[in-house]
Amino acid sequence: MVQVPENAEDLKAIAPVICYPVETLPAPDMALYAAAREGLTKREEIRVEARDATCFRVPAGCFFRIKSIEGPQVGDLNLWNAMDFNERFYSGKTRALHGTHITTGERMWSSFPALRPMATVTHDTLGWYGIDAYGGSVHDVIGTRCDPYTHNLLKSGQYNHCCHSNLSRAFAAELGISVHEAEAQVHDVLNVFMCTGFTRDTGQYFMKASPVRPGDYIEFFAEIDLLGALSACPGGDCSAEHSSDVAVCHPLLIEIFEPADGALKGWQPPKLNGYNRSHGV
Ligand SMILES: [Zn+2]
Repeated sequence: MVQVPENAEDLKAIAPVICYPVETLPAPDMALYAAAREGLTKREEIRVEARDATCFRVPAGCFFRIKSIEGPQVGDLNLWNAMDFNERFYSGKTRALHGTHITTGERMWSSFPALRPMATVTHDTLGWYGIDAYGGSVHDVIGTRCDPYTHNLLKSGQYNHCCHSNLSRAFAAELGISVHEAEAQVHDVLNVFMCTGFTRDTGQYFMKASPVRPGDYIEFFAEIDLLGALSACPGGDCSAEHSSDVAVCHPLLIEIFEPADGALKGWQPPKLNGYNRSHGV
């Protein structure tokens, strides 16, 4: 039997404080990025087929967009430092710093010990969505990625086109390694265009139909040389179910842009984190 303290209501009434106030977080120079994105030249376009994934490379100082082209579709994004795959996107710390969803001006942070911005969101056509009445928002860093293990746990099935498998196949093909070696490099994603939140009554992770429509895009500035992998999730717009071929799915487009010469004057790639790594030893 759990003993409820006499002052239970008083304890519950204590106001929360933000875990990681971001006032001292190094701020991106959004004015510089805004000026640079006025003179972009498209270098490359890469199409990601439905229920599949593709790798792409973006040099530091370039921009890339993930775009909805044929219908509402969610994308699962992995990012690595192209020079050192041990440095990869850190969904959990990005969530701790920016909240459950990211938009313009917020960043995708990398794993320890680097912990630095890998990419900065420079434009988001779904920025208008904000937080809806259910607590839902777009571009989620809550979810991990749909995967065949959780699917097997819940439904005993063998499904091979979850984002986890799609990303593993894409990374294996890009590096010429086995899918099992590649799988170890796949990490928790940015769920691009995915509309999610937590239910107020049970605290459960929910998804709802993404508001994304063809033409919508999220744009990033590459702070370091990046290898990316994007999966067009088998959940489609994630309005009903994932981890199956039931949902209507669409391809996604990755566009890579180069700014004009001199447009990034004064910009430098972010340094590795300044902690000395002595850990008290
Ligand atoms: Zn997925």
